[in-house]
Amino acid sequence: MVILDNGYIPSTLDEALQIRSENKVIPYAGGTDLMIKAEDVPYLFLNKLAELQQISVDGDMIRIGAGCTYTSLLDSPITPKVLKEAIRLIAAPAIRNLGTVGGNICNASPKADSALIFYVSDSKLRLRSVKGERILPIEDFYVGRGKTVLQPDELLIEILMPKKYLDNYYYQKVGARQALAISRVAFVGLFGMEDGKITCCSTAYGSVSDTILRFRNLEAMLLGKTIAEAKELKGSFLAEYDKAIVPIRGRVSADYRKRVCMNLLEDYLTQNGI
Ligand SMILES: Cc1cc2nc3c(=O)[nH]c(=O)nc-3n(C[C@H](O)[C@H](O)[C@H](O)COP(=O)(O)OP(=O)(O)OC[C@H]3O[C@@H](n4cnc5c(N)ncnc54)[C@H](O)[C@@H]3O)c2cc1C
Repeated sequence: MVILDNGYIPSTLDEALQIRSENKVIPYAGGTDLMIKAEDVPYLFLNKLAELQQISVDGDMIRIGAGCTYTSLLDSPITPKVLKEAIRLIAAPAIRNLGTVGGNICNASPKADSALIFYVSDSKLRLRSVKGERILPIEDFYVGRGKTVLQPDELLIEILMPKKYLDNYYYQKVGARQALAISRVAFVGLFGMEDGKITCCSTAYGSVSDTILRFRNLEAMLLGKTIAEAKELKGSFLAEYDKAIVPIRGRVSADYRKRVCMNLLEDYLTQNGI
């Protein structure tokens, strides 16, 4: 371990967890979110921890280390296409070389582009402290804008991403520019069918509210239906989403955000024959 004036550089995950349990420290991965909120608290630098930088396939799950940078994920043949598509639109290469998926998730911004993909795919998060480990769905990790259930002694270790349904996706990030843009609305939808029935119609919405939005109760309207049945329900399905999505005003109006969300949802349905 190296001790600096402004923090600690552990060389193993166990060392990092020990430091985290004994000191008030701020985990620092790539620093691309932290760089704009300087605080007088020592940092726990995570970027030397090889344990957090692995990506592997484990049965029907992709395991992504919290410390994987965007660049390393773009380079990996394991990274699913939908995640790569979202990553390619994050910032610019200099930020992608430093920024990590763990930082993106733990910063808890509704604009977090990689978190959106983990949200729609039912990914789970592995959190660890010296006391042990817990795994929870990403939806349960967030309690508000910038707020998570991460305990002061815990670190996010890895993301467990189910492989099922990742191949048939619809993704759009709407920003002010084609590149280097923070999203004004981001939308992702997965779709799957088995034996002629819809088994997956997951959608998630970024930059719309205080947290990423997903409406499982509304998804249930189409689950188990044929395409013909789904077409009949399309009007009421869209109407329910129209009621459920309540955007907050940001740099663009709430009306604009709502219209974009609904257009993208309709486009996603059309792409899937509904
Ligand atoms: C110019 C610029 C453009 C950007 N564009 C985008 C964009 O288009 N889309 C987008 O989504 N984001 C964007 N960002 C934000 C940022 O780059 C990402 O959110 C990035 O993924 C943050 O990762 P990091 O490793 O740098 O996090 P850090 O800044 O190191 O940390 C962020 C937060 O997560 C915590 N943390 C980090 N790792 C862990 C861990 N393993 N366990 C527990 N807590 C942890 C930190 O304590 C901190 O609270 C941009 C930032 C900049 C500066």
